[in-house]
Amino acid sequence: MEFGFTAEQEAWRREIQDFLKDNPPEKFPTQSGEDSWGHGAFSKEFVRLLGQKGWIPLTWPKKYGGAERPNMDLMILFEELAWARVPWAAGAICWSMANTILDMGSEELKQEFLPGIGKGETILWLAMSEPDAGSDLLALRTTAVEQDDCFLVNGQKVWSSLAHISDYGFLFCRTNVDPKAPGWASISILMLDKKLPGVTVQPMVSMLGDHFHTEVFLDNVRVPKRHLLGKKNEAVVHLNKTLEFDRFWARFPKPRFCQRITHDLVQYARETRRDGVLLSQDPSVRTKLVESAIEIEACRQVLWSIGWKIDNKMPLTYEASAAKVLADDMGLRFFDRSMQILGPYAYMGEADKWGTLRKNIRRWFLWTAGDSLAGGTSEIARNTMATTGLKLPRK
Ligand SMILES: Cc1cc2nc3c(=O)[nH]c(=O)nc-3n(C[C@H](O)[C@H](O)[C@H](O)COP(=O)(O)OP(=O)(O)OC[C@H]3O[C@@H](n4cnc5c(N)ncnc54)[C@H](O)[C@@H]3O)c2cc1C
Repeated sequence: MEFGFTAEQEAWRREIQDFLKDNPPEKFPTQSGEDSWGHGAFSKEFVRLLGQKGWIPLTWPKKYGGAERPNMDLMILFEELAWARVPWAAGAICWSMANTILDMGSEELKQEFLPGIGKGETILWLAMSEPDAGSDLLALRTTAVEQDDCFLVNGQKVWSSLAHISDYGFLFCRTNVDPKAPGWASISILMLDKKLPGVTVQPMVSMLGDHFHTEVFLDNVRVPKRHLLGKKNEAVVHLNKTLEFDRFWARFPKPRFCQRITHDLVQYARETRRDGVLLSQDPSVRTKLVESAIEIEACRQVLWSIGWKIDNKMPLTYEASAAKVLADDMGLRFFDRSMQILGPYAYMGEADKWGTLRKNIRRWFLWTAGDSLAGGTSEIARNTMATTGLKLPRK
């Protein structure tokens, strides 16, 4: 068993770090959120720069503009982007949707979409959940009925993250509208162009006051048939794979992100006095920092071991769900502990040296609660582990 990185991998990590030093994330304008990778901030300019570097299609076949690099290199890239807190929320989701296009898209669809996604010019969002269909996705009601050379789409999506700044939705819809047809044989994925007549995107403002999620209304939208992804009525066959990848890749950077915050908090504790005592000398603060460091490292090791399986083309069963539960539960405890380390000052808004750290920890403390719901809830992930991992009976 080999736990280290090769010289080439270390050199790749340094290359990314140097690039991020030359292009500090905070110099890029954001269209959503503020600081912080994966927790709301998104900058089209920054994503385009990643595209220009050729880092978005890093692992794709050369035929589609990729570099055919191993997944381990992609994981190192994700870790360093997380450490630098780049404004690339939903990037991992966009990445996994591109993988689904590579996996099940027609050649025509690949040629149409992959170059733009690879250059960071086409942004995708996941249009899956509906007001009455979340955990039970097969209950979705949005319909797509064939008419001439189009699908006529009607329905409503909810929670569509970043649809307002994206270009195409990965639209899950019912193409078999026979009410007696089983859900698993009725659902398809269409590439939904947000500019089509009949598409209305409305903001959902979060408890942070951010505009990150949206509701999407679809009123007689004519989606060209060539924008069907995969086979009609067979999306469910691919759904688990799409979600498994989404769950894993969206969680993979989290330990590294938390490691960076721990690094900042250690510095904060070294420099900050409470009741005349340096926080770094306060046993309760030291204990909390150490507990965080242990949990983060344990989570990071498990995620890397799953990544290693992906890199070695080993099939995933319950692992992505396990990664989601582990990382999201760790995140909840981590931000709770971080708020306790800040103590009453967590609530203070003054603009001293540590003002930004305090503000961000407050934001992430609230935001991280949503992580355990996004991409399917942690309860559903536990159900998947029970049946797929432990082979417990379904009922
Ligand atoms: C931050 C965030 C980002 C999101 N981004 C997107 C996005 O980009 N695109 C998109 O399509 N959707 C997105 N979602 C929606 C998300 O996928 C759904 O909220 C989630 O799947 C739960 O569905 P629901 O809201 O309908 O809740 P429900 O399915 O109604 O569940 C309510 C509660 O009941 C529990 N529950 C339900 N069924 C079971 C069961 N069988 N066993 C045990 N417990 C159960 C759930 O765990 C949950 O706690 C996002 C959600 C959040 C919070």
